[in-house]
Amino acid sequence: METSHKKIPVGVLGATGMVGQRFIELLQEHPWFELVALAASDKHNGLPYAEVTGWRLSGSDMPAAAANLPVVSCRPDAMPGVKVVFSALPGEIAGEIEIDFARAGVAVFSNAKNHRMGADVPLLIPEVNAGHIAAIPHQQKQRGWSGFIVTNANCSSTPLVMALKPLQQAFGVSKVLVTTMQAISGAGYPGLPSYDILDNAIPYIGGEEEKVESETLKMLGEWQEGRGFVDAPLVVSAHCNRVATREGHLECASIQLERPASPEEIIAAWENYVPESQAARLPSAPERALVYRREIDRPQTLRDRDAGNGMTVTLGRLRPCPLFSYKFVMLGHNTIRGAAGGSVLNAEWCVSKGLL
Ligand code: NAP
Repeated sequence: METSHKKIPVGVLGATGMVGQRFIELLQEHPWFELVALAASDKHNGLPYAEVTGWRLSGSDMPAAAANLPVVSCRPDAMPGVKVVFSALPGEIAGEIEIDFARAGVAVFSNAKNHRMGADVPLLIPEVNAGHIAAIPHQQKQRGWSGFIVTNANCSSTPLVMALKPLQQAFGVSKVLVTTMQAISGAGYPGLPSYDILDNAIPYIGGEEEKVESETLKMLGEWQEGRGFVDAPLVVSAHCNRVATREGHLECASIQLERPASPEEIIAAWENYVPESQAARLPSAPERALVYRREIDRPQTLRDRDAGNGMTVTLGRLRPCPLFSYKFVMLGHNTIRGAAGGSVLNAEWCVSKGLL
């Protein structure tokens, strides 16, 4: 595992946006990665990051290491020497740009939707489907790339899949009905006009429900040599809503289990869940991927989103469901666990498995 030697030079695509800023925050003083390049749209013309970016994250200042880096165009030749790029590009343009980097020999860890459902592209959460990185050599061979693309899930699929995995393993899960209350930072910056979202909740986020319903099956499914990705045999129905919180997606789920389980057994499955990736002691992995809170009114967006430095998914309110077996609430930090933090963890997992 790469640890004590020279750090791996990395860059961020879409560095000026909400997720891009999170990447920069999380990569400062990273033990394995060194941030050496920043890119966004051509309009910035190589000007220093501090000159073209208003820092929008609460609780931290713009890292000094980023402030003087030039903001270049999203082209491999504009970022020489970079071995890894973290992509926070909008879906409208991410697809081709990420392919250019992979073709040029760069490992791409993407937050964009474009390649998530690719037949040879891992949609990765190390605590859930660590083995899906077996697709990477196939991807490289099939496409003739020396680099590769690994994606992370949509920010509302992430907490759901993390909550479901231990239950799938222990009891089987056949049906899921989930309703989300998603923060405005999930729409990027500047996101929604304040007049539309203040004092409001909007019962529509374009494309989001379809992503939750399909990505969940891929992530909970298997990579099988010779067959590729095989979806998990469950059905997911999602209602996705935008609400007037800044960070953190709160989600309410009802689930049908395949085998009966008591509430104590379900909570134990969450609390005792030790994923395969935990043994690798990845720098960004939280001590506990899942925490169950017993207070009747938790998790709460404001109080629980930063658990485990934003990398822990907080669960609560497990109770019987009159329609399915059980219902519960979960919360995940959308720009950390659901975006930049998840991507950095994916890159760490690939380093620990010798892929970088
Ligand atoms: P954002 O705040 O709108 O940032 C978009 C970034 O892309 C900015 O740095 C922008 O740079 C750059 N960009 C825009 N057009 C470009 C172009 N033509 N060429 C190169 N760069 C361009 O969006 P975000 O919320 O950070 O989301 C980034 C990606 O992550 C999206 O694909 C989103 O779906 C995904 N995602 C977001 C979240 C979340 O919670 N926000 C969670 C999971 C996944 P300029 O300064 O040059 O405009």
